[in-house]
Amino acid sequence: MNILVVGRGGREHSMIMSLALSETIESLYAAPGNGGIASQANCVPISETDIDGLLAFAKEKAIDLTIIGPENPLLLGIANRFQDENLAIFAPTKEAALLEGSKSYAKAFMQKHGIPTADYASFTNADQAKKYIEKKGAPIVVKADGLASGKGVIVAETKVEALSAIDDMLVTKTFDEAGTTIVIEEFLAGKEFSLMAFVHENNVYPMVPARDHKRAYDNDEGPNTGGMGAFAPVPDVTEDLLAFATTEILQKTADGLMKEGRPFTGILYAGLMMTDDGPRVIEFNTRFGDPETQVVLPLLKNDLLQVFIDVMEGVNPKLQWEDSACVGVVVASIGYPAGYQKGVEIPELKPEGSSFTVHAGTKKLRTALVSDGGRVLLVGAKGSSLGEATNLAYRTLLPMKDSQAFFYRKDIGE
Ligand code: ATP
Repeated sequence: MNILVVGRGGREHSMIMSLALSETIESLYAAPGNGGIASQANCVPISETDIDGLLAFAKEKAIDLTIIGPENPLLLGIANRFQDENLAIFAPTKEAALLEGSKSYAKAFMQKHGIPTADYASFTNADQAKKYIEKKGAPIVVKADGLASGKGVIVAETKVEALSAIDDMLVTKTFDEAGTTIVIEEFLAGKEFSLMAFVHENNVYPMVPARDHKRAYDNDEGPNTGGMGAFAPVPDVTEDLLAFATTEILQKTADGLMKEGRPFTGILYAGLMMTDDGPRVIEFNTRFGDPETQVVLPLLKNDLLQVFIDVMEGVNPKLQWEDSACVGVVVASIGYPAGYQKGVEIPELKPEGSSFTVHAGTKKLRTALVSDGGRVLLVGAKGSSLGEATNLAYRTLLPMKDSQAFFYRKDIGE
């Protein structure tokens, strides 16, 4: 089969690493890919959001299945366009992807279908939003409605912070269109975890749970990032909790989308808070999470391509998972998530045993590998325990310990 993966990050490299093991693949392409993906797939310089370009490429190369990594093409309707042309694509339509693309849609959907989440109200008017904050007090969470690459969420510890977030979003319009509607949400206390599932219509096949580390620096200090590391499975997520999250959250979501005439095909990702009253949805994504994918897929025993095919054909893929732990530590450019330098040569790492390197912001420059983004690499490892996996990942990272150009958190997996 000829397969196309759309995207350029660590998540896509991780998918490619798994897909490359499949014996049924003749040609594996990535658009646009990155410096690491180039070793396992043919990278083609077509951007993720160039739907016409991707469609033309899929036809020209007789692609049998296209798999989408990031969210932007989903909301631009890539699945709708491919389906209109009878091309197989593992991705939700733009109508189903609205669960990620609009937080006010997602909240109203959850309320309607009895899916546990924080109380909320949505606003387009700053004065009304401010009155709501005066009434509710702090801590409280203010969210831009649309996609904002993880920057559109302010967890306000004081009323003043919440009021200023409202001004930023509704008055100064820092997030343009994405922030013309805001959601104000009850603050939930607890530990977070992510649960992803392969979904087709009302068939839901959950993966192992994962936990990511969003803050830039050790001890959860510093600004929020796209994710500085992750591990799977999560020891404090019990079987009961998983069963509840699967039936009461993921299954109800898939069923609700069917009822609303927006059947879902693709990866459904629930970001969950373990509160004293049980798990509550913090957010939905309608694609693989990054960096969770990089620590979940290495634990999957099945042929990933066969899983995609089975799920799309309504066949139970009978997922099987290794009885090990997997951890991944992100190496980022110094300065990330704010400004940073690109084009810096990346020191060579020598993964040993079960450790591995996933590329995110990298590119090949003649024979050298150079940085091309904020998050550059993820160094992962598997082990019989989380501790064993973590030790191995950090051992592999030793050559970068005192780097002047790159940094990584020293407490991933703790
Ligand atoms: P992503 O980068 O994953 O796309 P996002 O922009 O969709 O993130 P959320 O996941 O909704 O944003 O929120 C980001 C983070 O803010 C969460 O991981 C969580 O730590 C915190 N958060 C969000 N909502 C709440 C809440 N109601 N109570 C407490 N913390 C919250």
